Amino acid sequence: MEMVFYPNDLLRVKTKQVENIDDKIRDYAKKMIELMDISGGVGLAAPQVGLDLALFVVRENKMARPLVFINPSIIETSYELSSYKEGCLSIPGVYYDLMRPKAVVINFHDENGKSFTIENSDFLARIIQHEMDHLNGVLFIDYYEEKLKNKLLKPYMRERGLKAK
Ligand SMILES: [Zn+2]
Repeated sequence: MEMVFYPNDLLRVKTKQVENIDDKIRDYAKKMIELMDISGGVGLAAPQVGLDLALFVVRENKMARPLVFINPSIIETSYELSSYKEGCLSIPGVYYDLMRPKAVVINFHDENGKSFTIENSDFLARIIQHEMDHLNGVLFIDYYEEKLKNKLLKPYMRERGLKAK
């Protein structure tokens, strides 16, 4: 399992629902958690490893238990917003402030097929919203105006010998 980097089209996939939460899915989740951990990230979504599945993993900090979200949907978002310097394992080195709802209610299945509806706020809500976007082919840089987006991506693109759009 390897990380997919921007601007790979695999990051733009609108993912399919997971039909059966079986050993194969649990194995994907386990490997994604390992990759997230060695990459020093707090979340990793299936498209970031080239999988067309509605699945992401989160570990809020080193002490926290890793969480697996399968077929997630955000069913409520707070009116209150918060700003945070966001980044992405698929666009290493690019960080910028982004406003998002401070809290969300999310419905999902875990790796054992159990269904949960939980409310999250602050950092965990931030990670969840970022990873949810990945499942819809959306990246955090998409929220910025074209000019700012290009400016933020310029050093990244140059470093990789890629031509900016
Ligand atoms: Zn990301």
